[in-house]
Amino acid sequence: MAKYIFVTGGVLSSVGKGILTSSIGKMLQIRGLNPTVIKIDPYVNVDAGTMNPYMHGEVFVTDDGGETDLDLGWYERFLDLGLKQKNNLTTGLVYRSVIEKERRGDYLGRCVQIIPHITNEIKNRIRAVGRSNNADVILTEVGGTVGDIEGLPFLEAIRQMRIEEGFDNTLYVHVALVPLLDVTGELKTKPLQHSVNELRRIGIQPDIIVARSPYMIDIKTLRKIALFGTIPEEAVFCSYNAKSVYQVPVILNKQGMGDFICQRLGYNCIEKEHQYWLDFVNAVIKPKHEINIALVGKYAGLSDSYVSMKEALIHGGAKIDTQVCISYLESEKFEKDPQCINDLSKFDGVFIPYGFGSRGSEGKIEAINFARVNDTPFLGICYGFQLAVIEFARNVCGLKKANSCEIVTDSPHPVIDIMPEQRNIKSKGATMRLGAHKIVVKPGTMAYSLYKTENIYERHRHRFEVNLNYLKILKENGLIFSGKSADGRRMEILELPNHYFFFASQFHGEFKSRPGKPSPAYYGFIKACLSKKMGKAKPAFT
Ligand code: GLN
Repeated sequence: MAKYIFVTGGVLSSVGKGILTSSIGKMLQIRGLNPTVIKIDPYVNVDAGTMNPYMHGEVFVTDDGGETDLDLGWYERFLDLGLKQKNNLTTGLVYRSVIEKERRGDYLGRCVQIIPHITNEIKNRIRAVGRSNNADVILTEVGGTVGDIEGLPFLEAIRQMRIEEGFDNTLYVHVALVPLLDVTGELKTKPLQHSVNELRRIGIQPDIIVARSPYMIDIKTLRKIALFGTIPEEAVFCSYNAKSVYQVPVILNKQGMGDFICQRLGYNCIEKEHQYWLDFVNAVIKPKHEINIALVGKYAGLSDSYVSMKEALIHGGAKIDTQVCISYLESEKFEKDPQCINDLSKFDGVFIPYGFGSRGSEGKIEAINFARVNDTPFLGICYGFQLAVIEFARNVCGLKKANSCEIVTDSPHPVIDIMPEQRNIKSKGATMRLGAHKIVVKPGTMAYSLYKTENIYERHRHRFEVNLNYLKILKENGLIFSGKSADGRRMEILELPNHYFFFASQFHGEFKSRPGKPSPAYYGFIKACLSKKMGKAKPAFT
């Protein structure tokens, strides 16, 4: 029978619930258990796909094409899982299915209410995820902060689950900020106390409290938290600021959190060897080399907009003991002041991430041009791939006004065009080409030397693609499409053989990048940046 761990957060958002939940999963995994993770997002959107990354951070894409909250990315990276759309639950999703059932007449004349109909729907969905994954433990992170109006039905549902599943099979973990008051130099627990009270007010007494503080709490603070939280001192843990988020499971495990959880849930298991994780953490926090990357994007003001990309760069770097320092540059600045483009010469590599719409696209094209002409290592992802095709068409093939139909509708050379099946789609939610699709990699290319196999599966999220009418001219001028969809009609990877490292993909390798198992495209880029910086010959990736 599966057991349930629920994670709630207090005082403010961004307190680190996602990392904590992933870390709990890691501590269970290294004890031989098989956890799965659900993220609850109390907003009314059906999924994260329609939300602006500038406000909400990146949209994470699952293999089955779910457009989910970025926390699923953290769970996948920490636990090396392939989660599904169903692992993300939102108010919109829950209400939509209850309303559909009501319209069908499933509730047989009854008045449909938050309790029990909405709460039952939530509980059923949580249990179904556990069943379909054959999980021992279902970890559920409740997004937002305790006390938010929109979170209430979810908290009520997890409160009921204790009654239905039993005390021994359920565990509530509450994490809250313990700030440092700089005038007195003290760590203050009062906000945490209030958030615990807020949780109790709705009938949930936490079993474990995690203090999120700038440094390790002292014993006096720990005792205070235990006393006011009505829990034993052994049930208080501290997640303090660390150099890397990948240290958090190690920190909490050292404090005994993994053993405490297992004992409390009645698991008799011992910690297994997990040297690979410790080695990875070491490579991240004590790197031997350093490279500087310019990430030229449209949402550069919020690094969470590119979190999976940032992490994939870190994973790639760790494999060769290299710290990757990323500067987030607004592409529009290259449009406003063309001289700025020369600033890119300070960097070891140019990275163009995903993107949508026309704003800043010309600046990105300028940055790609800089990298191509100056032999600077370049990696482009999705929009970055499409804009690299445009840059090449304009400046190498001589198609001066080449563009994407996403940017201008009347280009004489629409080298990037809408996919035919997308043409008549009006609705924005979940309608892009999404999720994992097969890509066939051409032997003898750089892509093949990186991926070392012919068939790969990578995740997608796009509406536009390379226009096949321009393939001939692009190829004749030296652009190589080294990866294509299984039917050969979609261009998926491009490279320039005469360049030090010029590589772009229509797919998003970052979503499948893991600590110790970096995305080959990202790894290749980092390795090229480091080799170039050291004045070495172009890497062969053999
Ligand atoms: N806007 C482009 C498209 O829809 C690229 C999308 C992306 O970068 N994810 O095809």
